[in-house]
Amino acid sequence: MSEDEKLLLMPGDRLSTEEEYLPAGNAFAEEGIVYSSGIGVKEIAEGKIAVRVVGRKIKKLKKGMYAIGSVVGDLKSVIFLKLDDLEFDDKEFFAPKDGKIVLPRRGPRPPRNDEIMKPCKLGDIVLAKILFNDPDVYTMGIMEDIAGVVYSNCEVCNNPLSLGSKRNVLQCKECKHTEFRKVSSAYGDFNKIKGILEENTKI
Ligand SMILES: [Zn+2]
Repeated sequence: MSEDEKLLLMPGDRLSTEEEYLPAGNAFAEEGIVYSSGIGVKEIAEGKIAVRVVGRKIKKLKKGMYAIGSVVGDLKSVIFLKLDDLEFDDKEFFAPKDGKIVLPRRGPRPPRNDEIMKPCKLGDIVLAKILFNDPDVYTMGIMEDIAGVVYSNCEVCNNPLSLGSKRNVLQCKECKHTEFRKVSSAYGDFNKIKGILEENTKI
């Protein structure tokens, strides 16, 4: 690579003429001149010129992506999540707004008929899918197997809860207290959760 090619290019910088190279990624042509549309370094291949963007690519979370967050609000029919920003090796996703989970009229079946409970509770960490990207909030879904609570503390002794013997039941190993949740199939498995969240980079 020559010194010239190491130069950091800015949007609008002249790269070549269209006769020399056709514009590829992060480059555009105007009146026969090819310009950079990104911040990065020049890359030339097969008669085309591109700008390889350096640094992290920052994107907003959008519909179809999974997000992780903690339950910060719990109303009668809506649960609010404070979503985490996500960082991967070369990409970053930020959550410019909170998420909400609208509770279905009939949620997952509670373990006992006399218990009417919420799928998640204040302080829980929840993995959820973005169903709608509304202007002020993300509407999130937790009905898929992989979605739901991935970490929760015991409401009695505050120790971390473990998977219980039944589906959608969490149990405290310390005090044996059990709690009902919509439990993710990735509960407590942070490598699996990371894998799910990394799928966002393909959307
Ligand atoms: Zn406990």
